[in-house]
Amino acid sequence: MGFAKIIIHWTAGGYKPNSTDLKHYHYLIDGNGNVNHGIYKPEDNLNCNDGKYAAHTGGGNTGAIGVAMCGMLGFKNKGSVGAYPLKSKQVEACFKLCAELCKKYNIPVENVWTHYEFGKNHPTTTSAGKIDIIYLPPYPNVKANEVGGFIRNKIRWYYERL
Ligand SMILES: [Zn+2]
Repeated sequence: MGFAKIIIHWTAGGYKPNSTDLKHYHYLIDGNGNVNHGIYKPEDNLNCNDGKYAAHTGGGNTGAIGVAMCGMLGFKNKGSVGAYPLKSKQVEACFKLCAELCKKYNIPVENVWTHYEFGKNHPTTTSAGKIDIIYLPPYPNVKANEVGGFIRNKIRWYYERL
């Protein structure tokens, strides 16, 4: 079995990944837009039964690549985003990385979801109620329920240019 999906997160931390973040995601885009590699490789999530995998999406880790943008510590809502709102160069780097991963692992862009979307679609998992990603600071007019579709369109744009 190959990879089924990519789940996009924010870390709810600062602009640099900490040691916990590096355990939980395969790729982490820091505040400078640089891609950091986590401790586990995507291939480690093809089989999660050995306990050696990046636990990023409760109820959905098997066959799932976890991509996180570093930031959003202290986010409460659109009017109170905290001191580490995701930056434009950071979110664009994330969309581009996801396009590259879709191509490399033959994952349809339709199978890229935010953690928020996964939780909504799997209400009995621990991912239910997750708020990453209900708000994209560089695109403040995109509504919570539209963020996932917005991101997939962005990824398609990058995919077509690879
Ligand atoms: Zn998450």
